Amino acid sequence: MPASQVRLLLVDDDPAAIQIMGRMLAQYPDQRFATSGEAALQLAREATPDLILLDADMPGIGGLDVCKALKADPDLARVPVIFVTSHGTTALQVAALQEGAADFVTKPLLASQLTARVRVQLRGKAEAEDAHRHPHADSPAAPPSPGGQRARLLIVDDDTASIHILHHTLADIGTLHFAKTGAQALRLAREMRPDLILLDAHMPGLDGFDVCRSLKADPAFRHVPIVFVTRFADARYETRALDLGAADFVAKPYSPAVLQARVRNLLELKWRTDAELHAVLEQGRQLGDARIADIVAGASDAIITYDAQERIVLVNAAACGLFGVVNESVLGAPARSLLGAELAREVHAGGEVERATLARSDGSRFPIEMSVSVVGHGAQRLTTAMLRDVSERERFEAESRSRLKAEAASQAMSMTMACIAHEIGNPLSGMLGFAELMVADRGHPLAADQARRLQHIVTSGRSLQQLMRDVLELGRCGSGRLSVVLLALDTATCIDEAIAAVAPLAAQAGIVASLEATGPPRHAMADKGRLQQCLVNLLSNAIKYGRPGGWVCVGVAGDGQEVEISISDNGIGIDPVQQQHLFEPFNRLGRQTTSTAGAGLGLVITRQLVEAMQGRLQVRSAPGKGSCFTIVLPGATPTPAQAAGPP
Ligand code: ADP
Repeated sequence: MPASQVRLLLVDDDPAAIQIMGRMLAQYPDQRFATSGEAALQLAREATPDLILLDADMPGIGGLDVCKALKADPDLARVPVIFVTSHGTTALQVAALQEGAADFVTKPLLASQLTARVRVQLRGKAEAEDAHRHPHADSPAAPPSPGGQRARLLIVDDDTASIHILHHTLADIGTLHFAKTGAQALRLAREMRPDLILLDAHMPGLDGFDVCRSLKADPAFRHVPIVFVTRFADARYETRALDLGAADFVAKPYSPAVLQARVRNLLELKWRTDAELHAVLEQGRQLGDARIADIVAGASDAIITYDAQERIVLVNAAACGLFGVVNESVLGAPARSLLGAELAREVHAGGEVERATLARSDGSRFPIEMSVSVVGHGAQRLTTAMLRDVSERERFEAESRSRLKAEAASQAMSMTMACIAHEIGNPLSGMLGFAELMVADRGHPLAADQARRLQHIVTSGRSLQQLMRDVLELGRCGSGRLSVVLLALDTATCIDEAIAAVAPLAAQAGIVASLEATGPPRHAMADKGRLQQCLVNLLSNAIKYGRPGGWVCVGVAGDGQEVEISISDNGIGIDPVQQQHLFEPFNRLGRQTTSTAGAGLGLVITRQLVEAMQGRLQVRSAPGKGSCFTIVLPGATPTPAQAAGPP
């Protein structure tokens, strides 16, 4: 905390003494003054100070009573109180320290000494608050028990006589450990983790200041109080020690009772801080555990943990779902009851299992992917297996593999057919050309029989030519060589032209083909030639598979985004099983035995063309009722000329 924010309360019945202290502590500008015990308590309750400097000897409520009242008030108990007095008798010092005073200084005061003592108390307070907010990982793991456990004190002094006296003074307070050099002190401190260290300032080799500096740099010793006990009662040493992190500086010769009281107070403070730290850490740990438990419980992967005896100690909901078991029935059961003997053995032996097949409680088997982690050793070992059911993924992969294979085979066949069609195409054109010449040659008329047979040759040749064209087209679609030029088209115009193209076929079949009355013109992004090819294919089918006297109707709808052109008929319809094979090349769904001409390629080509124009082809059909094929294309904004309409 910056000095400017520290609030001090200076209490003395002598205003001159307050003035002197105030000046010594000028670096803390927020100072409040009280010249009586009552005023001190009132001021402290009005605005909690960070530190109180308290005169012991005042008329009315004396310093000791003020201290007692402060320590009894939960809001003020933590405020450090430094007694400042001109006659520091041992009895008074002990009494003050027993009332909870943090320190006791005797006048005449040196500014450096007083400020160093104030700094120590403010630092201790800040550290305790900081520990509460951010517990350090090196903080005590077990709760300290001020009642049950004896304090461990480390006494560091190179002088045997001094050690002897300290032993005598502090034996009642705790278990004493001794070090005679600085190096030994550091080693022992790290080994035994004392609750308090008494340190001689001047020793050969590493002196007390070095030891203090080294220990305070280690977070594990941040809250361990260090008390300097030295025969060099020099204010400079005192200031230096306190600024290095020491909690107190006691000059020899000291009063045993005062030293005992000081040590007890410091130990109590440390235990309180430790207890708070522990409570915060414990709370954090429990919070952590609860969160981890939530995460594990809600994980989508199955998690199973088992101990060194291979007994299941944890299964999450996903694992229960995967194996078809309930939590209670598997906790404590052997790991092999879920993982199977072989897999459990392999995992336990540290083998890396990535894929395996497991069985559910109903006997069904499923493939899994698995990762294993192990924590702890020997009897403490915990093995965690994380499993994922990959049956869906494997099925999907198998499906895509066979689809790709089928597509590749179909593409290869289309290409072969296209090559054959191309090779047959030329001689076929020659044969047809000569046959048609013979039909048309008036100079050499044929006999009626011959003319009829020749007409058969021409008709069959034309069918074969159409088939060759279709096969070539299919080959182009399959090889990605199909090119389309997408423009904004008025769909009604295309439909009219397509209906005109199939009019002779419709008339021959006795079917009426018409465009439904539509609303405003709808424009689609499409290739005109290809769209017409699609419409003619679908219209021809609707006529071919219609019924005599029936109808074929073309409707247009759209929402601006898309345009739908639907070709409906009231023909023979297609049953649901047949619909699944509708787009297979050369599959005529049983119509090959009828007299209806066709090769089973029209719909395959139509769908490929529609998709090449970024559209899709949809089918609805009911046997005996009719069919509806819908071409869905991206909508388009008409060009200005189209928008203006025909001249
Ligand atoms: P094709 O007409 O040359 O046989 P298509 O690929 O155009 O080949 O059609 C495949 C099959 O789908 C047809 O043989 C027919 O059985 C069925 N089909 C197509 N359109 C219709 C329709 N409008 N009504 C009933 N069946 C149809």
